[in-house]
This record gives sequence, C-alpha cells and structure tokens, in this order.
Amino acid sequence: MTAIDLPADSPYGLDHLPYGVFSTAEEAPRVGVRVGDHVLDAAPVAAADGLAISGALAQPTLNAFLAAGRAQWDATREWLVDLLTQDANAELVAPHLLPLDAVTLHLPFEVADYVDFYASEHHATNVGRIFRPDGEALTPNWKHLPIGYHGRAGTVVVSGTDVVRPTGQRKTPADTHPAFGPSIRLDIEAEVGFVVGTPSALASRVDVDDFDEHVFGVVLLNDWSARDIQAWEYVPLGPFLGKSFATSVSAWVTPMAALSAARIPLPEQHPEPLDYLRGNDSSALFGFDLAIEIELNGQVVARPPYRTLYWSPAQMLAHLTVNGASLRTGDLFASGTVSGTERDERGSLLELTWNGSEPIELADGTTRGFLEDGDTVVLRATAPATGGGRLALGEVRGTIQPAR
Ligand code: CA
Repeated sequence: MTAIDLPADSPYGLDHLPYGVFSTAEEAPRVGVRVGDHVLDAAPVAAADGLAISGALAQPTLNAFLAAGRAQWDATREWLVDLLTQDANAELVAPHLLPLDAVTLHLPFEVADYVDFYASEHHATNVGRIFRPDGEALTPNWKHLPIGYHGRAGTVVVSGTDVVRPTGQRKTPADTHPAFGPSIRLDIEAEVGFVVGTPSALASRVDVDDFDEHVFGVVLLNDWSARDIQAWEYVPLGPFLGKSFATSVSAWVTPMAALSAARIPLPEQHPEPLDYLRGNDSSALFGFDLAIEIELNGQVVARPPYRTLYWSPAQMLAHLTVNGASLRTGDLFASGTVSGTERDERGSLLELTWNGSEPIELADGTTRGFLEDGDTVVLRATAPATGGGRLALGEVRGTIQPAR
C-alpha cells in the first residue's frame, strides 16, 4: 500500500501538490507539501533520498526552492508523485505525513516586490462608472496596457491573520475639509496572485513567451481596500495608504504545473496590443478557468469568474519588465479584482453594493455596504485539475478587528 489513501475527488490530490511553510510545537518552520488533509514534511524525506534540494526544503520560506528554477521545480514534482504513489516508499513517507490540524501555517514566501494590476474589464468598467459617472468608464490607456501600481510587500500576510481597520484621512466632494479617523468604507478585492521564482537582470525584458521560466505558481489574494482613504489620496499618483495596510494571501502556493488543464484562451483583445504584449506563439496568451467564491460571515455573496479577465498574466509580466525593471525571487504580482458581467460575479463590495448605495442582505438579517468590525471574509477558488477532477487553491481568510 502507499503512504496515504486519498479520495478520488480530493481537491488536494496528487495532481495538485501545493507548497507552503509549516511548523509544529517541536519543529521550526520549513517547507511542506499538502496532500489531502496532510502536510508532507518534504525536507527529511528528500534528504533520506539523497536529493540536493532537501536543503532548500528545510528553509523557513519557499524562496530558496523558488530560486532553484523551472527544471528543479519539475524534477521535484516528479519525485513527489513517485514518492506518494509507489508502494516501496510507504514506510519512508508515513512518519513525515502530518495531519493539517496538527501544524501551524506561515507566510509561504518572503515577498520581494509586490505589484497589483487591474486586469478585469468588468471591474475597471464598474469602478469607472461609480467614480466617473459623467466620463468614459475605461481610461484611454486601459486596452493598450495592463494598468498596475507597486504595492507594499512588507504588509502581505498569510491567510488567517486578523486585519486591523486602518485609520487615515478621508474627504468626500461634499466635505469642505478632510476628516481623520477609522475607515468607514473598508472593502475586499478578490484576486489571484502570481509568485515569481526565477529572477531577471536589470535592464532586460521578460518576453510574454518566457512566463513559465519565471513564474512558479499561484496564490489566492485579498487586496483589502479602504475606499474612503483611497478616494481622497489617489489623485494624481494612485493607491497608497488605502491599500498598504494589509494584503492577505493563501498559505498554499499552487504550482503552475498543476494548473495546465485550467489554461484557456483569453477573451479577444481589441485593439490588438503592441508587439511586446503579443508574444511569438498564441499559446503564450492564456487565461485561467478559476472559479472564485467570496464568503462573508459564512455566506457566499459572489462568485467571480477569473476566466473573464482581459489581460493574461504573461502580458502582465512582460509589461512589468518592459522598461528594464528586474524581477527578484519572491516577487508577487496580482491580477486586480476579478469581476464578471453579473452582479453576483463582482469581486468587491464597492461593486456588489454600488458604493454602498445597494447594500447586500446577510442571512442574520443585517445588511452590509462595507465591512463591519468582526466580519470574516473567506476567498476560495477551484479549477480543473490535470487528473480530470477539480483542485482548490488554498483559502484566504481574514477577520476585521477594530481600529487602534
Ligand atoms: Ca487590487
């Protein structure tokens, strides 16, 4: 028999194998691989098998493993599948499979730089209609380049971390002076984040076709946003304190290899983007068939479809480096809020409640325009797996604590 029995429909089966960082009461943080409801303590098993990668797997972040590059990521994945499927390995593996509820999960990688894009046409259109009702919904540049901004890497936190309501300046057009205090329009943004492994040199560009050489995997991401702070501060330099207080990511990083069956063609792009955003081969421009769910206090309030995103992550990466900006291991770039065409497919409360004017009703009879203290938000997402079932990205959970 093999070391672990997995139900055929497990969203964490052998065709998934996401990576994270865990600790136990006795052992310091190190790399783990999720298998069903267990975590494989990979380093000692790799060491027993004589693998050089065991050193990277013993580290308290994924960064050394991320830096090892595509060939090593693929080789380790093949080794894991052999390890977990061949009867001869059962005795070696069994002592190193720990129940998920016996471990503590940590931020899986040290975030180098963090960039957030704005790649959903439906989200950008909704936001344009809310904030610029008299103008064009999309800005003139929107279909020519993936718009983004640089965020704050040091405040990226792992799922389960509480989020303290931020305090700052806010002023609506009706106010004569800005007020100071806790945000009263605290929001979520359901997004997908891409984790860079292989760096690039300063003053070089990463082509659309080279995405798979550089990007290791995917996390689910909640870009917490204080809409009132954001609205007052963002002209003319963009998001700042309305975003930088916290960004939550899943504890598990799903390898790109596990998502090969979820790659789909992009929606048609008109006008045709410039050459550097097109690539040599049409397969370079792909989207993902990821189905996201937003749960607020235990109730699903939206199901944003990632497949509707306008820009490919490969285009985001090419654009991010087109000026010669280098990549570092641990860079994180996120898609921007994922919103579909329907009301219940919107990825933020700003859109779901149309800036608070159409509150949503919760099962306990209360309504929400924006988040209240004590509210818990959980993002989940599933995608077609290579084995024919569906895999689940790690969830992203956060509870709002009162302002301090
Ligand atoms: Ca965002």
